[in-house]
Amino acid sequence: MKEADKKRYSRHIQLPHVGEEGQQKLLDSRVLIIGMGGLGSPASMYLASAGIGCLVLSDFDRVDESNLQRQIVHTTDSIGNEKALSAQATLKRLNPGIDIIAIDWALDSQELKEQIDLADVVLDCTDNFESRFEINQSCVETRTPLVSGAAIRTDGQISTYLLNREDSPCYRCLYGEVTGSGESCAAEGILAPVVGVIGTIQAIEAIKIIAGIGTTLCGRLLLFDGANLEFQSMKFKKDPECPACSRTSAAVEAV
Ligand SMILES: [Zn+2]
Repeated sequence: MKEADKKRYSRHIQLPHVGEEGQQKLLDSRVLIIGMGGLGSPASMYLASAGIGCLVLSDFDRVDESNLQRQIVHTTDSIGNEKALSAQATLKRLNPGIDIIAIDWALDSQELKEQIDLADVVLDCTDNFESRFEINQSCVETRTPLVSGAAIRTDGQISTYLLNREDSPCYRCLYGEVTGSGESCAAEGILAPVVGVIGTIQAIEAIKIIAGIGTTLCGRLLLFDGANLEFQSMKFKKDPECPACSRTSAAVEAV
């Protein structure tokens, strides 16, 4: 490791859990963040500053003034610019020593799967069920770990799917069928720092998966109630009938 990196990441290296070896794993890793909004903002800022060697930022939307209340990777002078490029510019200033790739167009399903396959961990920071199920399916097929967060009003939830492991549930084991577009922050509102809490936990999970430390949220859904300041977690298991990840359904489809 370069001397400059030893200084920049010294507070990680001091941690017995991480050390120089763990930091090197972070520097050698590639993380795909899909959605550079309220969740992707804090997640990407922590992962950039923590020294993830290659961050890939995917978002085809542009920065709107109403985003700035919570999407802290973007600034007032980036209104109207592509979110992926606006985030890339902020993160480069945070940490010029890492690679930051911006994807500012809508990925088709083949491109999405290729990007997921290249990543060590995927962060789903999108805001609709359709994208979430598609990302989950590609993560299942490429056996790529997925950290999926969501937030609305004063509530958030997050879980981790270690899809490189046989026994891990997937997103669809937990949420079942696609049911419309669901609720949106545009219609329901969102308390700004709630996305900060959930996006930050997504970054913690990604770092733990890459460095191989601690216990992840695999098989647990963490619920955050910002109004009463309570965390709860509930356990769940892989659904043997899950159309996305069960072996039976894959075999049936193959026939
Ligand atoms: Zn499943």
